Amino acid sequence: MTSTWEYAPAPESRDVVDLRSEYGLFIDGDFVEPHGGGTFKTVNPATEEVLAAVGEADAEDVDRAVAAARRAQTEVWGPMSDAERAKYLYRLARVIQERARELAVLETLDNGKPIKESRDVDVPTAAAHYFSYAGWADKLAHAGFGSDPQPLGVAGQIIPWNFPFLMAAWKVAPALATGNTCVLKPAETTPLSALLLAEILQQIDLPPGVVNIVTGAGGTGQALVEHPGLDKIAFTGSTSVGKQIQRALAGRPTKLTLELGGKAANVIFDDAALDQAVEGIVNGIFFNQGHVCCAGSRLLVQESVLEPVMDRLKRRLGTLRIGDPLDKNTDLGAINSAEQLARITELTDSGDAQGAQRWQPECQLPDRGYWFAPTVFTGVSQSHRIAREEIFGPVLSVLTFRTPDEAVTKANNTPYGLSAGVWTEKGSRILWTAERLRAGVVWANTFNRFDPTSPFGGYQESGFGREGGRHGLAPYLAT
Ligand code: NAP
Ligand code: MG
Repeated sequence: MTSTWEYAPAPESRDVVDLRSEYGLFIDGDFVEPHGGGTFKTVNPATEEVLAAVGEADAEDVDRAVAAARRAQTEVWGPMSDAERAKYLYRLARVIQERARELAVLETLDNGKPIKESRDVDVPTAAAHYFSYAGWADKLAHAGFGSDPQPLGVAGQIIPWNFPFLMAAWKVAPALATGNTCVLKPAETTPLSALLLAEILQQIDLPPGVVNIVTGAGGTGQALVEHPGLDKIAFTGSTSVGKQIQRALAGRPTKLTLELGGKAANVIFDDAALDQAVEGIVNGIFFNQGHVCCAGSRLLVQESVLEPVMDRLKRRLGTLRIGDPLDKNTDLGAINSAEQLARITELTDSGDAQGAQRWQPECQLPDRGYWFAPTVFTGVSQSHRIAREEIFGPVLSVLTFRTPDEAVTKANNTPYGLSAGVWTEKGSRILWTAERLRAGVVWANTFNRFDPTSPFGGYQESGFGREGGRHGLAPYLAT
């Protein structure tokens, strides 16, 4: 199907990014060679182009980083006045704003997400997070944690690839605001924006050792978890790795927060404003290619409006533009890695095999890179794998319900509990439903909204602990 009005190409220039061919680890304020000399390559998932070789940290590098962080915490960052610490965080937030375009382009190159998302969501939300926590740094005595709350010490922080720069902000900002120092482990497929963060930390003259960045794969994360010198571990990632970390920390005094997976229900009642709901459904599951822990991946539609909702949804999906992530008109970018593409393919194949009906709009996928067309499954039952397991891709499973009770029962029929959405005209029904949904965040007549002042986190297999807002200070304080 060709439409009459095509969009002209509107590519963002990548000249603004100064890519190096090799990156070292960031330890004690400097870029250093990894001890074992090992490197790994990070690619642009939209083209499979190799972007850079990045140092792979082993247990000795992790040990160096933890020692630097400890020294910095006890000698410099801990003793510093709260107001001084705040100044560094404000400076960091401002430089992120100044270098926003560079950060957005680099994030899109390394991750595959559309430039309009890295430009309008990831980078500004990260800057907002640093600003918000900069504001807390000199007000901790008034935050409800006693008159003289103390930092824990050194935090090990492990983050995933779906929002690399933003997840680093969620980790680093509250740690620094509370007087802790940290060792951050970015994901293997998306290390570059964390390494640009390291350059920015040098630019703002952050004292050496306050933030250390050890790049590598799962083994580097494991070395960090196993290091005995940490006071806290903050992990965002899959539920299976989260469980491994919890087991590894059993019997140790190390504090732990886990932000894990999800399988959110997005509940559409028959009195909802359907066009708005359809926008919310699209934003809920196709934002960031569905690589979102709180994605609205299970659509629960009241039976009486199933037909109009599906008609409008399909029409809307026909207008999504898929392709070059650097094009400013692109809605759906690349899948982050070949592994993730294989996982999505395997799970959607199980949807076919178990009897659900697959629908995809007509669309042309690029020849190179990792791509998956937006997909909707109807005829899904609760026992299907696509209704139970996190797909972490642009795939929506549609189920129906007749009564509000049935909607709540089905929504809560999951081992996860991170987020949920409710669409209805009635305020009373929003409150009734939200009260009964077992999820850390419930959005009403909207979805995937983030604000640095609002706590985020899960129940059950979605983890524990909160990030964001005043609540996000608690996991970094000895309360
Ligand atoms: P993952 O495999 O668990 O990886 C997360 C991080 O842990 C990566 O840095 C990873 O390194 C590292 N890692 C892997 N094995 C490890 C081990 N044994 N010990 C310590 N660290 C280890 O998850 P993912 O596939 O990258 O991310 C997707 C998952 O994250 C989804 O389930 C999603 O729901 C969840 N997520 C949750 C939130 C939230 O706030 N709740 C936010 C975003 C994502 P490598 O990069 O080398 O694998
Ligand atoms: Mg990459």
